[in-house]
Amino acid sequence: MRLFIARPMPEAVTDRAMAAFDTTIRADNTPLDGGEMRQALRDFDAVIPTLGDQFSADVFADVARPRCRLLANFGVGYNHIDTVAAGAAGVQVANTPGAVTDATADIALTLILMSARRAGEGERLLRAGKWAGWHPTQMMGLHVSGKTVGIVGMGRIGQAVARRCHFGFGMKVRYFSRSAKKLAFPAEAVASLTDLAASVDVLVVAVPGAKETYHLINADVLAAMRPTAHLVNIARGDIVDEAALIAALETGTIAGAGLDVYEFEPQVPAALRQMEQVTLLPHMGTAALDVRTAMGHMALDNVAALAAGRELPNRV
Ligand code: NAP
Repeated sequence: MRLFIARPMPEAVTDRAMAAFDTTIRADNTPLDGGEMRQALRDFDAVIPTLGDQFSADVFADVARPRCRLLANFGVGYNHIDTVAAGAAGVQVANTPGAVTDATADIALTLILMSARRAGEGERLLRAGKWAGWHPTQMMGLHVSGKTVGIVGMGRIGQAVARRCHFGFGMKVRYFSRSAKKLAFPAEAVASLTDLAASVDVLVVAVPGAKETYHLINADVLAAMRPTAHLVNIARGDIVDEAALIAALETGTIAGAGLDVYEFEPQVPAALRQMEQVTLLPHMGTAALDVRTAMGHMALDNVAALAAGRELPNRV
């Protein structure tokens, strides 16, 4: 089994891959280019790609009979892989659901609190030596305890965010999602996204990136939000119309935003970087050693299943 891993991995993942398979690990942290992706499909039985590796239909079209039978994506989001083209080429696709859920929900809560309580702005003020001392009307933000959170996409991460908001902060939970959910905490389903947007203090985006969710959060949804409300996106950048978000922030249509992902990442518009009411993280949802190690093991479990002729545990 020849395995190609597209980025350096945590040590335990590297050790297991090297021991179990004939493994090549690319030393670079940048996305694969077209030539590298085509070569990976031609020369390896399995590939562990990740975010940014655009396995689009034309990549598969250029490799007539790929040796590769599996793209075991490192990450739960796989919108960078054309799964239809992969299937037509006889390449299965797997991902790493579950391993990422709590860590990404934690980053959502980080962004909710930082945005609502102006934590980034306060830290910048202090570091700039401009803090004149405490006073009763200094830097007042939005108190989230007891307020209402709206979850867009009540899947694994959406539910983990909602649980934290409900049990941790006594927040009311409302949500918009594709299918009906049976939940272990009180939450009200809302059939219209704009109705949800209009009725919450914090709107959290947790749907997968896909054609169906491209610009789901558009100018209309932002216009429906309260001027005191905050938008948090921990899912994929292009789910939010970034230009419409910038306009909504500049005109005070919404109070603030907390973002972990960007429409054209790693490019982040100067307009966003300059606004005090925006909290910007560099796609850190799963950035913790034990989480990244668990993700790597999950990807390897899928490679091991392929090697043993078993059903993939996380086929998408
Ligand atoms: P998930 O369990 O599949 O949850 C996604 C939810 O969105 C599901 O409930 C799904 O409905 C719903 N949904 C899908 N399309 C929809 C649509 N068009 N309209 C409304 N709802 C829709 O996935 P997850 O594990 O929670 O992960 C969600 C996403 O987070 C991933 O795809 C990934 O892009 C992103 N993510 C980001 C980071 C980060 O580092 N920032 C880390 C991990 C994941 P159904 O229940 O009907 O399927």
